[in-house]
Amino acid sequence: GPGAPVKRRLGVMGGTFDPIHHGHLVAASEVAARFHLDEVVFVPTGKPWQKSHQRVSPAEDRYLMTVIATASNPQFSVSRIDVDRPGTTYTIDTLRDLYRENPDADLFFITGADALAQILGWRDAAELFSLAHFIGVTRPGHTLADPGLPDGGVSLIEVPALAISSTDCRARVAAGEPVWYLVPDGVVRYINKRRLYRDHPAPKR
Ligand code: ATP
Ligand code: MG
Repeated sequence: GPGAPVKRRLGVMGGTFDPIHHGHLVAASEVAARFHLDEVVFVPTGKPWQKSHQRVSPAEDRYLMTVIATASNPQFSVSRIDVDRPGTTYTIDTLRDLYRENPDADLFFITGADALAQILGWRDAAELFSLAHFIGVTRPGHTLADPGLPDGGVSLIEVPALAISSTDCRARVAAGEPVWYLVPDGVVRYINKRRLYRDHPAPKR
């Protein structure tokens, strides 16, 4: 009979997405093209462990903004697994759940240069690398380097440089400055409708 079935190639884009912006979207799109991914699933965190000391918008708002931003792309989808899992979000749980739900797929975890630099400090780091191939992407202001993953565990790629962060978007909204063209139009409208970030404490810019 035929050889081993060809596995589906599933990208995973984790993030707080508070709010999702064009930096996230261009990174996912670029990796999908370069790595011939069949799909990229965006996974908004529930309660992010690294952000336990700061205020994060309700998971439902972050989830809906992610849906609005990705809905028109047939290759993009959004998963509720982290939003619906009680307690603090750890990427190891995300990947274990996605691995179980997608036994037919190889997983490619997409991460910006800043997040990649931290990765060896994440919970159960060694198991992370057995569940997914990691793809580090360039991000303005950060140096992209292999932080010491097992051989072949990570690929580093250059993506179009968009100097956009969610932190800056929140600060802009709080200051009454525009976020048009930094985030998708529907996300600007959702932020206004839900009055997100209006009284956000001015963070360092
Ligand atoms: P915050 O400022 O709140 O931390 P953020 O802009 O860093 O928000 P996150 O949700 O923390 O966004 O990031 C999710 C993932 O997207 C991380 O892997 C991060 O490195 C990556 N990422 C975020 N912005 C960019 C960008 N402009 N270019 C490339 N990668 C990015
Ligand atoms: Mg971040």
